[in-house]
Amino acid sequence: MLNVIVVGSGAGGSSIARELARNGVNVTIIDRGRIIRSRNAFKCYETIQTNLEVMQTICLGGTTMVTLGNAVRTSEDAFKTMGIDLKEEFMEVEHDLKVSTLPDSHFGSGTIKLMESASSLGFSMERMPKFIDPNICKPCGECAFGCQRDAKWTSMKYLDEAIKLGAKVIEKTPITELIIQNQKVVGVKSYNQEFKADLVILCAGALNTPRILIKSGINAGEKLFVDTFVTIGGVMKKIKFNKEVPMNALIKLDDIILSPHFSKILVEKLKNFRVQKKDILGIMVKIKDESSGIVTENSVVKNNTSKDVELLSKGSAIAGSILMNAGVDSTSLVSTPPRGAHPGGTAALGNVVDENLETSISGLFVVDASVFPEAPGAPPVLTIIALAKRLAKYLLNERI
Ligand SMILES: Cc1cc2nc3c(=O)[nH]c(=O)nc-3n(C[C@H](O)[C@H](O)[C@H](O)COP(=O)(O)OP(=O)(O)OC[C@H]3O[C@@H](n4cnc5c(N)ncnc54)[C@H](O)[C@@H]3O)c2cc1C
Repeated sequence: MLNVIVVGSGAGGSSIARELARNGVNVTIIDRGRIIRSRNAFKCYETIQTNLEVMQTICLGGTTMVTLGNAVRTSEDAFKTMGIDLKEEFMEVEHDLKVSTLPDSHFGSGTIKLMESASSLGFSMERMPKFIDPNICKPCGECAFGCQRDAKWTSMKYLDEAIKLGAKVIEKTPITELIIQNQKVVGVKSYNQEFKADLVILCAGALNTPRILIKSGINAGEKLFVDTFVTIGGVMKKIKFNKEVPMNALIKLDDIILSPHFSKILVEKLKNFRVQKKDILGIMVKIKDESSGIVTENSVVKNNTSKDVELLSKGSAIAGSILMNAGVDSTSLVSTPPRGAHPGGTAALGNVVDENLETSISGLFVVDASVFPEAPGAPPVLTIIALAKRLAKYLLNERI
């Protein structure tokens, strides 16, 4: 039986490890992070400061530990056009993660006001599909810090399953380089420590996977996108929106999404209004940004392009109108700085990997946000899991 090493245990890594372990493959998952309780995930943020702040968490479970549970099919057409049809896999993922919208009990008055306001202005704000179990979730507004009650799906669910099926996990071990012989991968290195493998699957996330590739002499790291977002907010006294399920509804426009969202940054921005967290209503504006950034061995560079600024401005104007129409004090509207929570594209399909997600090095695959050909402009986890399921089928049928 072949030995497979999976580097990273986030959305891509845990999913491919679980699929292979279910089919009796010897899998070892190696992660730079450590095991943590879901509620402590906020301690593992490793935010990269470029012109835009780019977010990731380094721990077992990766950045899935801090998601808002948003479960949408993204980039389905972009992948299909390039020969990857994920229809079947999306259905499997939605079934596994019990994707559905939340019941009325999980909609607070802030979100409802925004949905009504949007509708009266002619925008359709639908309920967001979630991988959150409403029987366990007691809304607290803190999804991005981890989950006090373990109510949302994270990669730890798949990782635990893989471990029960015999997969080994090595934590606190950063993979620095690949071991390549005659254009074939034969293992990985963590500094001087070597781990031998027949196949290696890189899933270290879009800010880290390209660095492992570059260090091993493979060209990667260009075409970085981050799904840039801002949160526009203003004063609505005692609305207690900060305790509601974040991003519980969604407006889809061309290359822009808008979604109810509270950010602690707004409290500082609104200090002249003497507000507390409970007094702010907000909307996130997220765009499909251009793939203009780059990850190198030692740096990350990402700026807003003029097209990005245009999209952010358009979305912010709509968000402001919806907030004012909902009753927010119009003199109080402010914005957070642009940030990015979905880095991707740095080992893109058609550029660094082929349609089986294999690199130019035989036996070396990538399945994480790095392989997206362009920004999804919306939450990518479902798509990453679908890609991992598809890769597992290919490996089991053709390579193992
Ligand atoms: C606040 C926030 C909220 C979000 N909400 C949502 C949401 O609701 N829905 C959604 O679809 N998406 C959401 N996302 C985005 C989503 O979490 C990421 O796009 C997704 O987790 C990326 O998956 P990945 O496999 O590429 O990387 P990750 O999940 O980040 O996994 C990478 C793994 O690699 C490990 N690693 C890193 N470097 C090394 C190394 N050198 N050696 C070994 N291991 C390494 C890390 O520890 C980690 O375990 C959110 C992101 C943020 C920041």
